[in-house]
Amino acid sequence: MALTFGNRDEGFGSELVCPNCGSSHLHQKIVDVYERHEDARTGLHAQIKDNKSITDANMTENPSPRRQGMLIHFNCEECTTSPTLKIFQHKGTTYMDFQ
Ligand SMILES: [Zn+2]
Repeated sequence: MALTFGNRDEGFGSELVCPNCGSSHLHQKIVDVYERHEDARTGLHAQIKDNKSITDANMTENPSPRRQGMLIHFNCEECTTSPTLKIFQHKGTTYMDFQ
């Protein structure tokens, strides 16, 4: 699902908007970071949630099929959607999209 942006403020950047309702009131709830060497089956996964962090070697939710990736899980203040932003590298290019 393509990303859509609202207003741009030079001091902050562009507003990321909800893919369902268009609201810019998205709250970050969980962040997952995946680090691994190219094509490695395991690596380092770190998750930050509710002021706590965990780490393991689980790559099953990594949005990159071969390299590093990141997931940011949001809740929308204006609708019931909980979109997840994925950022990952594939063949030397970095991609961003909602899952
Ligand atoms: Zn929404």
